[in-house]
Amino acid sequence: MVKFVQPDAQAVQSAMKVTGSCAQVPQAAASLLSHYEPWFQRAATAGLFTPLEPKRGDWLREHEEKGQGVLSFLRRPLRAQPHATFQTVVIVPIGEHDMLLKVLPPLQDFIAAYYCLNVEVATPATFAEVAKHVTVRDHPDYGRQLHAGQVIDFANARVKADRALSRKCCGVVALTMEDLYPRDSWNFVFGLARGAESAAVVSLVRYLEDSTCSALQRTCKVVTHELGHVFGLGHCIYFGCLMNGSNHLEELDRNPLQLCPVCLKKMMIPFQWNLLHRARGIAKVCQELDLSEKERAFAVNLVTEFEAYERSVGPPPGPHVDLAEGRKSVSERVPGRTTSTRRMTSRRTTSRATRKA
Ligand SMILES: [Zn+2]
Ligand SMILES: [Zn+2]
Repeated sequence: MVKFVQPDAQAVQSAMKVTGSCAQVPQAAASLLSHYEPWFQRAATAGLFTPLEPKRGDWLREHEEKGQGVLSFLRRPLRAQPHATFQTVVIVPIGEHDMLLKVLPPLQDFIAAYYCLNVEVATPATFAEVAKHVTVRDHPDYGRQLHAGQVIDFANARVKADRALSRKCCGVVALTMEDLYPRDSWNFVFGLARGAESAAVVSLVRYLEDSTCSALQRTCKVVTHELGHVFGLGHCIYFGCLMNGSNHLEELDRNPLQLCPVCLKKMMIPFQWNLLHRARGIAKVCQELDLSEKERAFAVNLVTEFEAYERSVGPPPGPHVDLAEGRKSVSERVPGRTTSTRRMTSRRTTSRATRKA
């Protein structure tokens, strides 16, 4: 068993430090970071985000995690990043299970609000189609399983084959009701992400094992977590956070949906979010999707936080270009895709830097 030591205030400060890496931080992002710095400081110290207390069997008791500060995030060379017209997450459904098709529209709304990106769904692939390209094994306890890495390759190839989608795609998520395994020696895996390939795969089949938490909430959590990996986030050890690892369902349900101040600060560099608009979008979608009371309350609390912050220090800097409108015209140019497009509703503060992952 691994001994986990909760990082102290000094370790959190050091994880949040950006100094020394100015060359990698676009000017617009640097201005936003300095605008929000007092809030990050408050969020890291005022008890808004709870410390981690991993129990026996939890992720941090079985896996040694060093933690990823902002500087190590910036040094990570292989991470997907939205830029220029590449502002769309593409979901590739693997198999045509009813449950999978049902979860797609609310999941699109959730991802769009969470990452402030467009979200589209590729044409679902049938199992027979996938089995031609992906190894299928028969596990003695779990039955039929697909090789997770090969599903990622399959989903990426499917998006690349669609020129309209590949011209705007900044991240791919394959979603399936089939069980997954990452390598021969492993029993199974909930999901797998590869930043270098800008893609992840998530299986929903194990979320139906018990009904203590809605399958939709679990799906939203795991998909946004895996997308976090795609965008370069490592596992978080600083606070209760979307990016905490989870070893089992109870831990998955316990881990929060929101990013802690350390992880949020990392994401602000490529994404340059207006945090009040993003918080409002997430609170609205948590309400609409009827997620748990705990998540809805936390989301509303963050809206209150950022409203108070804006009242005290003013709105964030930037040209305040309403890219929601800009994105609408981009997606409308793609024939046959507009109906499945979930568009961001929050306003971004500035245009993104063009930097390839
Ligand atoms: Zn993870
Ligand atoms: Zn975190």
